[in-house]
Amino acid sequence: MNKNKVIVVFSGGQDSTTCLFWALKKYDEVEAVTFDYHQRHSEEIQVAKEITSELKVKHHILDMSLLNQLAPSALTREEIVVKDGEAGGLPSTFVPGRNLIFLSFATILARQIGAKHIVTGVCETDFSGYPDCRDVFIKSLNVSLNLSMDDQFVIHTPLMWLDKSETWKLADDLHALQYVRDKTLTCYNGIRGDGCGDCPACKLRKKGLEKYLIEKEN
Ligand SMILES: [Zn+2]
Repeated sequence: MNKNKVIVVFSGGQDSTTCLFWALKKYDEVEAVTFDYHQRHSEEIQVAKEITSELKVKHHILDMSLLNQLAPSALTREEIVVKDGEAGGLPSTFVPGRNLIFLSFATILARQIGAKHIVTGVCETDFSGYPDCRDVFIKSLNVSLNLSMDDQFVIHTPLMWLDKSETWKLADDLHALQYVRDKTLTCYNGIRGDGCGDCPACKLRKKGLEKYLIEKEN
């Protein structure tokens, strides 16, 4: 197992692209994995392909269409409306088991390519109500995966305790702010860069960027 090799769970969005730059700075060998679960916007896969190609990162795409079959949500079905959870409920964008499945497959892939490290852009701070983005869940899964394969993988979550403005700062510190802003796709309506400006993902992203840019000037 190569201690300096890492696999980044990569969707082509702001968070995972920032994680990709973080990994490129920290590790000698970086590969990325994107899960194709027939996302609402196949554009996501295209964006992920383009970014990894530009950054010269080996890119794996795994077919996870079974997730769509098992767990329909607003991220996978056009007919389900994107909305926040009501009073403690889960948002309609929640895909049950997504991070459990993605991180398990990413770690199996890490084993196959001989990488010790796995990076994911999950974050507890802007807690959107996704239970599988919590730090305690990631740590628990890391232990289970190591036990299951009798190995010592390390799952890294560089964004876990950052809010969106701090995530923009990290991208800036990595000299990638403009790249992340222009090239990534976070918008639920499938529009790159600053997006539609109106969906929950765009609003969160925009609010964080504005906050960071104001702080940077002062
Ligand atoms: Zn949007």
